[in-house]
Amino acid sequence: MKSMALIVQKYGGTSVGNTDRIKNVARRVAEYRKRGDQVVVVVSAMSGVTDGLIKLAKDIVPLPSEREMDMLLATGEQQTIALTAIALHAIDQPAVSMTGAQAGIVTDGVHTKAKIHNITPKQVHDALDAGNVVIVAGFQGETKDGQITTLGRGGSDLTAIALAAALKADLCQIYTDVDGVYTADPRLVPNATKLTEISYDEMLELASLGAKVMQSRSVEFAKKFGVVFEVRSSLNDNPGTIVKEETKSMEGVVVRGVSLDKNQAKVTLVAVPDKPGVAARIFKAIGDATVNVDMIVQNISHGSGSPATDLSFTVDKPDLLKAQKVIEGLKSEIGYKEVLTDGNIGKLSIVGIGMKSHAGVAGKLFETLANEGVNIGMISTSEIKISVTIDLAKGEQAIKAVHKAFIG
Ligand code: ADP
Ligand code: ASP
Ligand code: MG
Repeated sequence: MKSMALIVQKYGGTSVGNTDRIKNVARRVAEYRKRGDQVVVVVSAMSGVTDGLIKLAKDIVPLPSEREMDMLLATGEQQTIALTAIALHAIDQPAVSMTGAQAGIVTDGVHTKAKIHNITPKQVHDALDAGNVVIVAGFQGETKDGQITTLGRGGSDLTAIALAAALKADLCQIYTDVDGVYTADPRLVPNATKLTEISYDEMLELASLGAKVMQSRSVEFAKKFGVVFEVRSSLNDNPGTIVKEETKSMEGVVVRGVSLDKNQAKVTLVAVPDKPGVAARIFKAIGDATVNVDMIVQNISHGSGSPATDLSFTVDKPDLLKAQKVIEGLKSEIGYKEVLTDGNIGKLSIVGIGMKSHAGVAGKLFETLANEGVNIGMISTSEIKISVTIDLAKGEQAIKAVHKAFIG
């Protein structure tokens, strides 16, 4: 590392969950600064604040305006930046807080899931050059027309990685409430072990399949811009997990990690006319509503009359109501019989770049689940992962068994 390094540090909700934790963050940051490093700190809202704000809005109406949700949710992070700056001032460390917009984070206009267009961090550079620690509100940005946006749940990770890329930081550290990335969520699988390193692709799959330790879009961004980062704890000094480009030595491990996403829901359209263009129409409308679809399964129904299929797909649970509304809006145009929804599914996945060169992995997964009496719903695979949907109530039993079978 250069003698004076530029470090981006991100502290998540638990790490800034109360004023003692915020003082702890200030102490850690000041130590780096005293060594002569320049430090940009990205913070989340205090734990529970974002969920609390969402609940307030949904108490008023189930599907609130997304623009107003961004206006509301952006306030969570703004509390933390100011409190963190105040905590640094209290220990005589000059510091200045900035909103996403002040830090130059420009996004598109897709409220609640905005993408970063570009970052022009002039104010950040100026404040650093004047000797300050700069504290940036995670999870938020602004369109070029001055509308406040947010970057999707867990989006402070993206703020940190994108700032690290834009500032050409020497080091990017993601501080959280676990010691790093584990072979499974340590809250679900107590004997999961911490990984020393993991490839971008594996981290990306795990993150998009429910391992919320990193927001998946932030990992995608890190991969694209080659930002090597470390996930570590804000509560101790243990080394964390390095996330980086894959190396030859990583291929020896077949399954790097296991995840369980409890936040999925299934939508089924019963008796959809089986003719060209119908699926296109459905998924175009769903996409236009910015609902992400993961697994899709189509079954030919063998009833009498004109050919029809049942079409099922999965969405993130918070998007279920929106997806249902879109589908109901297409009923007269498409002419399906009915739409069913199921929020009691879990998506269990195994991930590892070693799967590319090992056979028999799917068989072993299905056998493990069968031995546990767990029924498999939908299945999807890629070169480096296998996912299945299962009954949510059996999720924790299943992930423990699968972890034991593949990792130990
Ligand atoms: P932060 O508020 O710091 O962003 P999150 O709650 O978003 O923290 O993410 C950290 C949590 O992610 C951990 O407390 C842990 O329960 C969960 N988690 C899920 N999968 C994993 C995994 N494979 N390794 C580590 N943590 C995981
Ligand atoms: N506060 C936001 C959330 O809870 C962003 C984040 O924590 O990263 O999703
Ligand atoms: Mg998070």
